[in-house]
Amino acid sequence: MDIPDTDTSHKNIKILIVEDDAVDRAVYRRIFSKNEGFTVLEADTLRDGLDLMGRESPDCILLDYRLPDGNGIDFITRCQQGTGQSVTAIIMVTGQGSEQTAVEAMKLGAVDYITKEEIVDGVLLRNILSAIERTQLKNAVLHYQQQLEKSYGALSEFTHTASHDLKAPLRHIVSYCELIRDEFGERLGEEGVQYTARLIVNARRLQRLVDDLLAYSEALNTIEEKEHVDVDGIAAEIVEFMEETIAEHGATITVQALPRVYAYPLRIKQLLQNLVANALKYKSTAPPVIRIACEDRGHEYLFSVTDNGLGIEDEHKEMIFESFKRLHSRDKIEGSGLGLSICKKIINMHNGRIWVESSAGKGSTFFFTIPRAVTAV
Ligand code: ADP
Repeated sequence: MDIPDTDTSHKNIKILIVEDDAVDRAVYRRIFSKNEGFTVLEADTLRDGLDLMGRESPDCILLDYRLPDGNGIDFITRCQQGTGQSVTAIIMVTGQGSEQTAVEAMKLGAVDYITKEEIVDGVLLRNILSAIERTQLKNAVLHYQQQLEKSYGALSEFTHTASHDLKAPLRHIVSYCELIRDEFGERLGEEGVQYTARLIVNARRLQRLVDDLLAYSEALNTIEEKEHVDVDGIAAEIVEFMEETIAEHGATITVQALPRVYAYPLRIKQLLQNLVANALKYKSTAPPVIRIACEDRGHEYLFSVTDNGLGIEDEHKEMIFESFKRLHSRDKIEGSGLGLSICKKIINMHNGRIWVESSAGKGSTFFFTIPRAVTAV
């Protein structure tokens, strides 16, 4: 789509009148003949109107609601050819008391409406110019949005492919380093063994980063469908999957009764798993005690994952949801800084909110909401 020129002041403006009443058409003609800069096209049926629109690309269409072979709503729908967008400014012309129809037309893409009683010179011309301008601005926004989506798609495809292609060579590097350490350790000497160990640590770190980048791009490009998800079942699966880590940390996890929500199942699992993994990872000296709960607030479900870990200072509570932002050095606690930004993206996909409440040294509670409007009853 070309970016439209938004200056309508000095152009020859092409108006298409779709109106079956000859008297009304004459009224329009009289108005436009008194004002320079307008070319007027006329059609008295929906079919002819669509035909003229296709051939002449008018700047604005004055569309009567009642036509012999259909109505204005049919016209708008057919103009858009399934795109849900009107490139041309359409002003719906209705009779008095047909506001409901006008609202419906505007929801479908008409940019304005006018009643037949309001058709007088100044008002009509002002409405036309303003409708054209608004449509052009809307088209420009749409154009940039499409461009953005395209670049974003290409970028995340690149991230996905790059991460995916890095996985195999990285696995080989780790395997060969381990082989060197195990098979040739004695010949390497103390320093050589140390270097190899560092090589392995860094290559594994890179492996985790690549895994997290893949998880990030998958979260953004989810291809799954929403369904009624049993969050209780998901929490049970996570606890089972993380059994070993939970035991290693001497952690206790309690899961309260959780509801069914209308959501992307794999993403909800990814979200809860990230929060539980963090609750284990950022533990204090005490064994971790983690609680997963949910409160039904009527219009939304409020989930929470509470831990008794290190806690987070007030000033960092928002920043931790950004990509690559970490509060702990990698030498102390491993991580890529992508986990919470993935959680945030997932919650955005569900039109919910995510935040943390915490006091440093006393543990944290991560909250997230899933609106009831998209949840199962
Ligand atoms: P990662 O764990 O890979 O660093 P995250 O995006 O999951 O990345 O977390 C970002 C930062 O937020 C972490 O580095 C950590 O400093 C802090 N954080 C996350 N979860 C917790 C938690 N439960 N308790 C304390 N700090 C946390």
